[in-house]
Amino acid sequence: MDKKKLENYARLIAVSGGAVQKGQEVYITSSTEVAYFAEMVAKQCYLAGASRVRIKWTNEELDRLNYQYADEENLSTLNELDKGEQEYLNAALPVMIYLESDDPDGLAGVDGGKLSRVLKARKLAIKPFRAKRENRYQWCIAGAPGMAWAKKVYPDLAPEEALEALWTAVLKVSRAFEGDPVKNWEEHEADLKARKAKMNSFHLRRLVYKSSNGTDFSVGLIPGVIFEAGGEMTRGGTVLFQPNIPTEECFTTPMKGDAEGIVYASKPLSYNGTLIEDFSVRFEKGKAVEVHAKKGQEALESILHIDEGSAYLGECALVPFDSPINLSNILFFSTLYDENAACHLALGRGFETLYPGYDELGDDEVHKRGMNTSTSHVDFMIGNRDLDITGIDENGKEIPIFRHGTWAF
Ligand code: ZN
Repeated sequence: MDKKKLENYARLIAVSGGAVQKGQEVYITSSTEVAYFAEMVAKQCYLAGASRVRIKWTNEELDRLNYQYADEENLSTLNELDKGEQEYLNAALPVMIYLESDDPDGLAGVDGGKLSRVLKARKLAIKPFRAKRENRYQWCIAGAPGMAWAKKVYPDLAPEEALEALWTAVLKVSRAFEGDPVKNWEEHEADLKARKAKMNSFHLRRLVYKSSNGTDFSVGLIPGVIFEAGGEMTRGGTVLFQPNIPTEECFTTPMKGDAEGIVYASKPLSYNGTLIEDFSVRFEKGKAVEVHAKKGQEALESILHIDEGSAYLGECALVPFDSPINLSNILFFSTLYDENAACHLALGRGFETLYPGYDELGDDEVHKRGMNTSTSHVDFMIGNRDLDITGIDENGKEIPIFRHGTWAF
């Protein structure tokens, strides 16, 4: 990939994504495979005024070896080094930048039970540390393709061509291929914020979904919980950052226990190395009670049994059918990209901070008021060309939200 384009993209990640401020520390997580790009991002962070940049290197082959040889107990526990890292993150509140490069099939063949138990145990162990820094730091997830990922997306191309093609796609859908990416994002951010303002002005209580593919579904919303889109502010509203590059969605967390009907997926779901295809999810009293998949049935069912909240909804997201990612017609095998292709729902954890007054109320209170909680959060796409979504406001009035797969206003 053209070096200048990569530098521009690295600048987008540092300046718009992480929004690195003068004197801030930065903590980049990157695969060793894309060290050249992580170094570019580190440089852009320094140019933006970072006081110190650290890179935490990850390596997929080591991950595989760990799951193969290290025992479950060891992998599930935070040792002194891990705890020290968590304490450093809480004390210094560095800008966190995550570069996604991994092979979607990188952990295929690893014992699935061991993998999900370890991931769950680690998330639980980190949770009390995370709670102390939640919403107090800037963070950004952006893609930096590795070779195995590129080969998965473009199996018919030679390795080098596949990598070039995936870099091109990543830069295009990230609005970083042409012009000044930082400026492109300012415009995009303004558009998303206008959508969000409009959605919040409706004071909706319910969303009703209908499509010719059979989707016939209705979900309640939590009074006062807002729709969010684009950049986020750190607590206190001091710094605007972009948690995801790209992002196209306007999303909220619905009311736990209030969803009825059936939704049909419009795209396959890549979950822990398994591709789940042609599937539907049926809800009763907010809970996913029946799932059918032509491929990956077992993996789909396993999502519902991770914990108590994993069969309830945590997210409803609106994305127009003509989003750049959908128009690219590429299945990226990565949630960061694929969830921005179309309207989606997510099973599992809701977004607590969308609750007004969350800072004072805290997790337990907002969970009591209908916000789902879980260690898992799995997005799946339901948007297609003829999806209609109608909102119902606090007075029972119907408001067209989506018509023919895109915004009705
Ligand atoms: Zn989403």
